[in-house]
Amino acid sequence: MTEDTARVAELAERLAAVRRRIESAAAEAGRGNDLPTLIVVTKFHPAADIRRLAALGVRDVGENRDQEASTKAAELADLGLHWHFVGQLQSKKAKSVARYAHAVHSIDRPALVDGLERAIAAEQDRTGRGALQCFIQVSLDDDAGAHRGGAAPAEVPLLADRLAAAGGLELAGVMAVAPLGASPEAAFEKLAAVSASLVAVHPTASAISAGMSQDLEAAIRFGATHLRIGSDILGSRPAVG
Ligand SMILES: *Cc1c(COP(=O)(O)O)cnc(C)c1O
Repeated sequence: MTEDTARVAELAERLAAVRRRIESAAAEAGRGNDLPTLIVVTKFHPAADIRRLAALGVRDVGENRDQEASTKAAELADLGLHWHFVGQLQSKKAKSVARYAHAVHSIDRPALVDGLERAIAAEQDRTGRGALQCFIQVSLDDDAGAHRGGAAPAEVPLLADRLAAAGGLELAGVMAVAPLGASPEAAFEKLAAVSASLVAVHPTASAISAGMSQDLEAAIRFGATHLRIGSDILGSRPAVG
C-alpha cells in the first residue's frame, strides 16, 4: 500500500464511522430522514486531504483562518466545494472571505455584517456569485464572549435584523460552540431556544450549526442542521507552528 492509499483508507474509515454516529443519533432523535449537513473541518490539514475527502463524497468543508482557507480554496477550485468559514473573523478579511466562502458561521457583531455586505456586493459585481449564507455565532458562556466567541443571546435580534436587511447576505440561522467544561446538552438546549426566538421573527433562518467531534450526538438531539467535525475524521491536528 502506498502512503496515499493508506491515508485514503484511513479517511474513508473515519468518515464512515462519523456518518454511522450521525445516522444513529438522528434515528434516536426521531429524525432519521432529516440528517444534518456534515461540514468537515479541515484546518491545519493539507489540501491533499481535502481532495481525498472530496473523492469520498464530502462537499462541505470548514476552515477557521482566512489565509489558510483562501490558499486551499484557490488550489482546490476545480472541486466545486462549499467552503464554510467557522473562525473569528476580522472585518478587514471580509473581502478575501467573499471570494471563496459559501457560508460564514461566526458573525458576532454589526461591523462585520457591514464589512461582509460591502465585500459580497463587490464580488457579486465581479463574478455574479450567490448570496453568502450567514450564521450568527451565539456565546453560550455565562461570561459572554469571554471564552469561545460569539454574541450574547440578547444581541441576536438586532444582529439578525441587520443581516436580514443586508444585500447579498442570507440569514441562515445560529451557530455555537459548547462551552468547555459544561454539559453540551445544556448548551445546545439553550441554543435551540435562541433559534426558536429567531425563527419566530425570521421564519427562514432555521439553521442550527452545532456539534463537533465530542458532542455531535447532543447537538443532533437538540436540532442541529449543520455539524462541524474535524478531528474524528482527520485525526489530531498537526501542532501549530
Ligand atoms: C476546529 C473547529 C471545529 C471542529 O472541532 P473538532 O473537535 O476537531 O471536531 C468545529 N467548529 C469550530 C468553530 C472549530 O474551530
